[in-house]
Amino acid sequence: MPSPAALRIALISEHASPLATLGGTDSGGQNVYVMEVARALASRGHRVDVFTRRDSPQLSPAVELLPGVRVLHIDAGPAAAVPKEALLPHMPAFGEAAEALCRSGAPYDVVHANFFMSALVGLRLKARLALPLVVTFHALGLVRREHQGAADGFPPEREAIERRTVQEADRIVAECPQDEADLVRLYGADPAHLALVPCGVDTREFAPGSKACARRALGLADGEFIVLQLGRMVPRKGVDNVIRALALMAPARRPARLVVVGGNSATPDEAATPELGRLREVARACGVQARVTFTGQREHAALCTWYRAADVFVSTPWYEPFGITPLEAMACGRPVIGSDVGGIRYSVLHGECGFLVPPHDPAALARRLDQLQASPALAAALGRGGVRRVRARFTWQQVADQLAGVYAEVAGPRRQPRCLPQRSAAGPGAGSAAGSAPPVLLPA
Ligand code: UDP
Repeated sequence: MPSPAALRIALISEHASPLATLGGTDSGGQNVYVMEVARALASRGHRVDVFTRRDSPQLSPAVELLPGVRVLHIDAGPAAAVPKEALLPHMPAFGEAAEALCRSGAPYDVVHANFFMSALVGLRLKARLALPLVVTFHALGLVRREHQGAADGFPPEREAIERRTVQEADRIVAECPQDEADLVRLYGADPAHLALVPCGVDTREFAPGSKACARRALGLADGEFIVLQLGRMVPRKGVDNVIRALALMAPARRPARLVVVGGNSATPDEAATPELGRLREVARACGVQARVTFTGQREHAALCTWYRAADVFVSTPWYEPFGITPLEAMACGRPVIGSDVGGIRYSVLHGECGFLVPPHDPAALARRLDQLQASPALAAALGRGGVRRVRARFTWQQVADQLAGVYAEVAGPRRQPRCLPQRSAAGPGAGSAAGSAPPVLLPA
């Protein structure tokens, strides 16, 4: 797709900063999305400011992340980690500060808000500054409630905010056909206001490579059939399902091992990651504790080696708005067994890149694991299928080009194509936020 004229984009992501460490309870796919979308848009000449909440006093008001991408830290609530379920009361302050920043610099062409709380900020900017608003929810409250019931800790206002956003935003980005259907079924969205744009993967960072080298680098045994599970360690990701499936696998020449990457700290610590204690208990009860390895959180840059070391990647969440990890595994040439839900159903083509299984069904998962264990040739063919699929459809550049098309549509005639000024001290970061924060001056 040809790149539309350069745009100035305000990307709002209240809790998920592109600067955060990934893999913890509240930092995962959305952080990656914001970072990679911003990076890919900037590489096409667009200018992106990411508005995110200041969660540490050490963060400067504005950080130049890459040429063309700044992260603007907004004072809203304590400058400390706050669980995302408790952030809504701080959104009025966030909105006020964001509006002041927008008023103080060169105008934005479009606001792209991520998650329902950022959407609330986006609605304010749309109403007061007449800025076109695009929203990616990343997760929908009503879908979450269908699956999590009373365990859902978000405030009840979430539903009304999402409904209002669906009515008032210029476009809602659905990440997969299931997301699109949920927006229509549960929120009455007008299909004409939806744009289907998936998540992506960085195919330079995640690429096929030697399994043996990767295992050597990580100290993993050569003779084992390694099943990898990687992601935030929260119950809905269904890691317990994978542990139960491991226990049901048929005995084989190469013993199977489950490696679980993720958690709130770099070592597997139950105090930092309470879910870990529950999963260890499941492994003990199934008699497979000696064949399950919990590694703790790993840096994104190190993950390619973990994917390469695996024979198969498994992700069997209860539901999944998109799910970037299956794409990462596919980009590394590994077959994926995923839940037949949400974005996984869209990204993993059954029989071409891996297999789809029902969630909560360890026996079905065990049968597919046995099949791949018995046929390395099939596993390799599915791995190659995954590489083809992500390169054809799911690179961040393709995602960003599609988003830029959506932005250009909603920015429409109100926006004249123009040359953007060189990056300088002027700009939205140069003003004062709500009369409180001092002017933010960026290095030229
Ligand atoms: N991730 C990471 N380190 C970890 C665990 C996860 O960098 O220890 C990254 C993972 O590579 C992926 C993201 O966190 O890019 C999780 O995204 P996904 O969409 O799969 O799940 P979500 O967090 O959105 O539920």
